[in-house]
Amino acid sequence: MEDIKILSRIIFAVLLFLSWSGTGKPSLISKSHEGNDPLLQYVLNNSLRENPVLTKLRLRTMEDAKRVMMVAAEQAQLMSSLLKLIKGNKTIEIGMYTGYNTLSMALVLPEDGRVVACEINEVYINISKPFFQEAGVGDKIDIRHQTALQTLDELLQAGEAGTYDFVFIDADKENNENYYEKSLQLIRKGGIIAIDNVLWGGKVINPAEDDIISQSIDRLNKKLHKDQRVDLSMLTVGDGLTLAIKL
Ligand code: CA
Repeated sequence: MEDIKILSRIIFAVLLFLSWSGTGKPSLISKSHEGNDPLLQYVLNNSLRENPVLTKLRLRTMEDAKRVMMVAAEQAQLMSSLLKLIKGNKTIEIGMYTGYNTLSMALVLPEDGRVVACEINEVYINISKPFFQEAGVGDKIDIRHQTALQTLDELLQAGEAGTYDFVFIDADKENNENYYEKSLQLIRKGGIIAIDNVLWGGKVINPAEDDIISQSIDRLNKKLHKDQRVDLSMLTVGDGLTLAIKL
């Protein structure tokens, strides 16, 4: 009986792989709030445990023109589970946008936990703040309204190297390598750097000559593959999520 179960799982995995890879085209990787993929909807229906304030913030963000930048709910939930798993306390979000993932992280941090939230756009900060207050975690979120590189440099200058548990990189992609290097200095051993949009809608496979963004994402992906300072996983959740765990 056990053998049949294992065999059926293997067959299912192979069929799933063939269905994705058989056409030779990049598989369609997506977020639950884009399009109406029934399988992603099933995932949400059967796994999402969204705090009511997160739901409100998600719906508010869906009214924004740049809503495509919002972290998918299923991805935020994965990252908050990882935070709990490593008993995370100090975190950084590089590119907060309207704060969906920031709030998701703050909700699972202990009382003295902190999110340093980097955001250059005041409009997004103003959208986020009332939701942080309503959820009762405003004190855990330290919003820095300036460039993220400036904030990361300030944290390093303040002697905070090696003290952070988790960093989420999701800002201007041209700077990803700089964000990664500074984050690697700021996190402790066993801490996690999560990098969003590492598949960039499939454009990383063969970036056009003038496509600076896809090229820089691809460059960092290839660099990380060889980077012996971290353990590495590249997940096909959302638009691709790399997890680099500091050794
Ligand atoms: Ca993103």
